[in-house]
Amino acid sequence: MKFFKKSEETEQTAKIEELRRMIDAAGMPPDIKRIAGQELETLSRISPSSAEYTIGITYIDYLVSMPWNKKTEDILDISRAEKIMNQEHYGLHKIKERILEHLAVKVLRAARKPQILVVDDEEIARKNLTHILTKENYAVAIASDGEEASKELEASEFDVVITDLKMPGMDGMEILEKIRTRHPDTKVIMITGYATVPSAVEAMQKGAFHYISKPFKLDEVRSTVRNALEKKLQTRSARGSVLCFAGPPGTGKTSVGRAIATALGRKFVRISLGGMKDEAEIRGHRRTYVGAKPGRIIEEIRRVESANPVIMLDELDKIGQDFKGDPSSALLEVLDPEQNHSFVDHYLDIPFDLSSVMFIVTANVAHDIPSPLRDRMEVIEFSGYTQEEKAHIAMQFLIPKQVGEKGLYEHPPVFTDEAVYKIIREYTHEAGIRNLERKIATICRKIARELVQNKRKFESIKITPEMAEHYLGRRKYHFEVIEEEDRVGVTTSLVLTEAGGDIIFVEAVKMKGKKGLILTGSLGDVMRESAQAALSYIRSNAGSLGIPEDFFEHHDIHIHIPSGAIQKDGPSAGLAIVTALISLLTGQPAIRSVAMTGEITLTGRILPVGGIKEKILAAKRAQVKTVIIPAKNRIDLEELQDAAREDINIHPVDNINEAIDLAVLK
Ligand code: ADP
Repeated sequence: MKFFKKSEETEQTAKIEELRRMIDAAGMPPDIKRIAGQELETLSRISPSSAEYTIGITYIDYLVSMPWNKKTEDILDISRAEKIMNQEHYGLHKIKERILEHLAVKVLRAARKPQILVVDDEEIARKNLTHILTKENYAVAIASDGEEASKELEASEFDVVITDLKMPGMDGMEILEKIRTRHPDTKVIMITGYATVPSAVEAMQKGAFHYISKPFKLDEVRSTVRNALEKKLQTRSARGSVLCFAGPPGTGKTSVGRAIATALGRKFVRISLGGMKDEAEIRGHRRTYVGAKPGRIIEEIRRVESANPVIMLDELDKIGQDFKGDPSSALLEVLDPEQNHSFVDHYLDIPFDLSSVMFIVTANVAHDIPSPLRDRMEVIEFSGYTQEEKAHIAMQFLIPKQVGEKGLYEHPPVFTDEAVYKIIREYTHEAGIRNLERKIATICRKIARELVQNKRKFESIKITPEMAEHYLGRRKYHFEVIEEEDRVGVTTSLVLTEAGGDIIFVEAVKMKGKKGLILTGSLGDVMRESAQAALSYIRSNAGSLGIPEDFFEHHDIHIHIPSGAIQKDGPSAGLAIVTALISLLTGQPAIRSVAMTGEITLTGRILPVGGIKEKILAAKRAQVKTVIIPAKNRIDLEELQDAAREDINIHPVDNINEAIDLAVLK
């Protein structure tokens, strides 16, 4: 028994010694190293068989394995970045441009030498400081009194001002006050002699960063200035620097994010927020029990062994509704440059600096992001692809990739253009290209199997539309719009869903009753109100529309919007609803192949709506020929590429009458 105890003790000492060495080698910031040391001290005094000991050892193991000062070196070469973006992605010109601009700003910021202003009335002090600071590779300007300093401050932006406290004329305190009001981001360091230390302390209370004393000690000057610069850069560099990629699934958000990481030479991490239910998944669990874990952010940083990866936080707009705690405040701590340099994960329980992480957030719809978060982001919209773009991407990227992955390089199947278009039109129904990639994968997989089972010879296989059908089975999608007849009371509406634009049909019927309005098809409140508004507009204009005055006295109206599984809301179906009603009540069929979107007012005006680009792409997918949009949305058309406008007539309209002329047969 005694012997066993003894060995346990030696084991404990050995483990503690090992951890002590690891703490020394981990490159922790000094105060964190101190905390780790204290923790280890406590552990050396408790029994190794206790749960507390196990928890403590796991914790320190975790601390020493964090990449405290391990970073990959950024490759800030914009031409190389551009090449990488282009190599991996077709199209997306605007997006690539925005990203390259973003990276260029990063390059410039990195290249800009820190600017420092030295203010002192003694020449020797100015000389000494200039000497020390230029050696550190800072750009140094000098001023011999307050007035000169003011001029310098007007002329350029300084990161740090080092000023003597006591000077004839305007003294250091006054300079400090001036900077605090006019250049609040600039850090001020006071120079003090022995006698003025109390005033220096007072200056710090008034907002000075720190003080250094005369005669200058090289190390003190260097480290104080370096700390001040670090603080300054934290507030400056990261402002507005979180990118937010917003768009439907499969439009290349993840893939572009990964390319940014490659271009910068950084590690890439993707964390899905979709369906996250607990704050602890972001911020970790307190280490009160064995098996407690840090949050995903800290976990991933440890896994990739780098403190400056590109972290993509996916599906910000899909955070679980029943989230325990406040997701936006947890995420602000992660994303906000003012807070994230001292991010405290509950498990680590000491701050970890996230300020050099590059965060990219993705969302299907940007306006679903809570505004405090959205304000800190630069939103880049990824919209859906046209059929032509999809076909290009398939030929250039998806097919070669799948051919490679399925081991078919020796005799790659050759897809004809017609087959690719057939797959896009008849087997997928999406803004992005996820399913398209899946369908191509299916074909390649089936060919691989046939080759292996010798059903086919090892020869080039041509994928024609017939072959595509052979491998994929019967077509999955039909063009309801062009294949159906025009009917009374049925209109085609363009809507925006999380998966991009889509078309839905609005159906209206009348029956015997008394002024009733029935609405079905999982409609949200706003859509219900649109239907009410549509009906009121019609009732108030019954005469001019040719509807008998007493019609509503003897009838109920039922409006239904099928495909009930999709939650539908928003005011943009108003125009399609009013048109369906007018068609119903005048008995004139509405034209199926005219699709529309627009909010209506009680006086018959049409107000602008969102998602025009996505909606037009959806109309093209459904082979709609005519699209009616609000006149005020004309500006959105500028964003559409020419290919997206081909073969489709777009009519911007101001009021309901104009729309009726286009959409209802006479
Ligand atoms: P998202 O993150 O928007 O859902 P992904 O980045 O996962 O979309 O894209 C889905 C697939 O489509 C990936 O294989 C990606 O490489 C490919 N892809 C998307 N856009 C393009 C493009 N413009 N050029 C080439 N490939 C693309």
